[in-house]
Amino acid sequence: MDVYGLIGNPVGYSLSPPMHEAAYEALEVDARYVTFEPPADAAAAAVESAATLGVAGLNVTIPFKQGVLDAVEPDPLAARIGAVNTIDFTGERVTGHNTDAAGAVRAFDEHGVSLSGTAVVVGAGGAGRAIAFGLADEGMAVRVANRTESKARDLAADLRGAGESAADATGHGLDALADLLADADVLVNATSVGMESDGTPVPAGALHGDLSVLDAVYRPVETRLLRDAAAAGATTVDGAWMLLYQGVDAFERWTGREAPVDRMNEALRSRL
Ligand code: NAP
Repeated sequence: MDVYGLIGNPVGYSLSPPMHEAAYEALEVDARYVTFEPPADAAAAAVESAATLGVAGLNVTIPFKQGVLDAVEPDPLAARIGAVNTIDFTGERVTGHNTDAAGAVRAFDEHGVSLSGTAVVVGAGGAGRAIAFGLADEGMAVRVANRTESKARDLAADLRGAGESAADATGHGLDALADLLADADVLVNATSVGMESDGTPVPAGALHGDLSVLDAVYRPVETRLLRDAAAAGATTVDGAWMLLYQGVDAFERWTGREAPVDRMNEALRSRL
């Protein structure tokens, strides 16, 4: 039996166990997915222990996404983002990946959204970084807007430093959103606004029908931003799709098999 799992602190809220176990059941994979809650300063030790114990794959969540970098060989995208959320122990080396970026990109793809033109990413924390790099890698011009403007500027500078596709990335405060959105094609909320209240970081009047909008917040699934975006005629993609496809990417990376996406989606959405 193969063991996969998640390290985080806390991890009790996670929807990854039912999502991955649904995939094992559907494909009759002899595996279990378990959660581990090591102390916050034990990222590298947790990875080394997992390797010693023969764990086949680990997902990584807050507060370990940066701390595990030293204990793995990050792929180029994870290295540029500076965070790892999936570790693969199945090859000769222990490798680190960031499937949050791939999850956001695939969520758009699966909704028929063409990732060209300009993307506005609201938020410059862990999710914002991953999504901004993912969209820049797709060739989009990325504008980052964040409550703390200096963090948006820092992320934009990191994007520009990472390669030609992000040469024109810029960072802004939230007050620039209306201007930025006027000619944008894609909008992502990567802040936690909308999670605990019915709030939104984006003024409804700045939304328009040519936008495709992803809200990384997945609890609730239907956020105020997505309601406002739908009312403005925009294409909407909820955060559960991003969560699903980051899990699909991890499953396929670990097992080498095509994920049973519908079964994983059912397991996820029935718990939201
Ligand atoms: P994080 O690193 O703590 O970053 C939080 C971000 O939210 C920062 O940009 C912060 O701005 C901003 N923010 C917080 N409160 C705000 C407020 N009242 N007004 C404006 N901005 C505010 O968190 P994270 O890991 O990036 O996660 C962000 C969200 O993405 C969470 O809701 C998380 O659940 C979601 N997420 C979803 C997925 C998925 O698969 N769907 C994956 C990862 C994360 P400052 O820099 O100014 O503090």
